[in-house]
Amino acid sequence: MNNLNSNVPCATPSEGAQDQSVTSLDVLVVGAGFAGVYAVHRYRLQGLSMLCVEAASDVGGVWYHNCYPGARCDVQSFDYSYSFSRELDQEWIWPERYSGQPAILEYLRHVVTRFDLRRDMVFNTRVTAARWDDEAARWLVETDTRRRFSCRFVVLATGALSAPKDPDFDGLKDFKGQWYQTSRYPHEPVSYAGKRVGVIGTGSSGLQCIPVIAETAQHLTVFQRTAVFSKPARNHKIPPEVYAEQRARYPEYRAELKKSVGAVNMPAGTQSPFELDEAERERVLEAFWNNGFLNMSSAFKESPYDLAANAIVVEFVHRKIRSIVKDPQVAESLCPKDHPVGSRRPCIDTNYYETYNRPNVTMADLKKDPIVRITPDGIATRDKHYPLDIIIFALGFDSICGSQTRIDIRNGEGLSLAESWADAPLTYLGYLTPSFPNLFFVMGPGNPSVIANCITMSETDSDWIGECIAWLDRNGKSRIEADEKTAIDWMQLVSDIADKTLYVKANSWYMGSNIAGKPRRFLSYLGGYPSFVEISKRSASEGYSGFKVS
Ligand SMILES: Cc1cc2nc3c(=O)[nH]c(=O)nc-3n(C[C@H](O)[C@H](O)[C@H](O)COP(=O)(O)OP(=O)(O)OC[C@H]3O[C@@H](n4cnc5c(N)ncnc54)[C@H](O)[C@@H]3O)c2cc1C
Repeated sequence: MNNLNSNVPCATPSEGAQDQSVTSLDVLVVGAGFAGVYAVHRYRLQGLSMLCVEAASDVGGVWYHNCYPGARCDVQSFDYSYSFSRELDQEWIWPERYSGQPAILEYLRHVVTRFDLRRDMVFNTRVTAARWDDEAARWLVETDTRRRFSCRFVVLATGALSAPKDPDFDGLKDFKGQWYQTSRYPHEPVSYAGKRVGVIGTGSSGLQCIPVIAETAQHLTVFQRTAVFSKPARNHKIPPEVYAEQRARYPEYRAELKKSVGAVNMPAGTQSPFELDEAERERVLEAFWNNGFLNMSSAFKESPYDLAANAIVVEFVHRKIRSIVKDPQVAESLCPKDHPVGSRRPCIDTNYYETYNRPNVTMADLKKDPIVRITPDGIATRDKHYPLDIIIFALGFDSICGSQTRIDIRNGEGLSLAESWADAPLTYLGYLTPSFPNLFFVMGPGNPSVIANCITMSETDSDWIGECIAWLDRNGKSRIEADEKTAIDWMQLVSDIADKTLYVKANSWYMGSNIAGKPRRFLSYLGGYPSFVEISKRSASEGYSGFKVS
């Protein structure tokens, strides 16, 4: 093992490099979101020499970058938090059932301070490239600050939803007003008072910011391409007695979560709509509409899989939208009709549909009248011009593999990861890909990642990677990569399971459909968190079967 931060002479300094040395490490963790923060804690305890490099100026990841108005988690805070420390569970107080972005960021900052992790973190530094030196069995990693690292292992904790889909509308560069992306929101306050604001995009982020911005904007126009299914979040402050109870039973609560398919507390329907009379069906649907969880599609036992059962839920949500939204034309635009409920990322909201009843809110349905260009003072659709002072793009992400393929990572033969994954990302368990030794992914493609509770997944993945590195060291091995045949079979299994669900019936970021040229393929393992843990533990206990170790 190498000494932490030891500097060794650089063999091939970059042209014009200011820092002529390379920091030598066991592990370089890239990204300081929930995953990277836990990885630093985990690998430090393990005694590895390690640093974490983060492009932003602080920890937080998603919760640093997405500081748009109304940003909050939509998995309950009791679930959307680390489980690795009982003391942390006991001392931290979540203010609300679904905490807002400031509270989540504060939590992460608290964790970093509490476990003294900041000293192993380097901020304002983006990893731009990594080259595998086969002879030395090390990665040489380059950054945009010219600081370089030589390490035995790279752990990419770069985020499944962190590579923003940037706006590419004609005319944007000539827009005279202000424009922002929800995924890279300014940390300074933005005032909407007296302003004509346009929001483009109605995914989770759009749904969260629209009601909040509408409260102070002079006028808000929502540009909607695809209507989405949402339901009330029923967010509320957590009463002290509930907290006391939760504290007392945190360990059991966490253990129960880990037995569930998504590692979250979320009820799922146990009845078939076809065995219920109309009144009973309605009672079940009302209960799911009102429970505040992301689970409308699970109201009945077969509604996540069966189109006929799903259609009953769809029809119920349409009725709800029509009963809330007063303008019948706007209500129709808001009713999703081109995909089953639950096939795109589900949403929960606070007053989303109600916002369209405000006199200062207009819906621009882009299915009927698409955007043609951005003008110096607004947005031109085919039939209209909307004058605007502020445009907010809520366009989502190049999800699941975008943050990894945007780095110029090359293996011993000079092949890049982006080239290698051009047709489809290939991993075993989401952890390693063939021919790129010692390059680990946290929540990579093929992992349950965005489908399961991401905080639980980030702990599970970093633990597995840490144990793997320890095993390699104990057994005198220096490299590990995914076996190609096993990885092909695994990704096929991931696809086959998805094909049995309704996810494949929608164009969504889950399917890569939001990015031009991205292969249409479902990239997350839907077999459930417990089965994933069992498979990955089995591989480890068999000396990392399914991986090539040398
Ligand atoms: C608005 C929003 C709400 C969400 N809500 C939920 C929720 O309620 N429940 C849930 O389970 N999941 C939710 N998610 C998913 C979310 O991605 C995960 O929950 C989790 O925060 C991911 O943590 P992470 O550390 O893996 O990635 P991120 O938080 O994305 O962190 C990755 C970090 O890597 C850095 N990075 C990337 N590339 C480089 C590079 N080349 N060099 C240096 N640094 C780099 C980024 O700057 C970023 O800080 C949400 C996502 C978004 C966008």
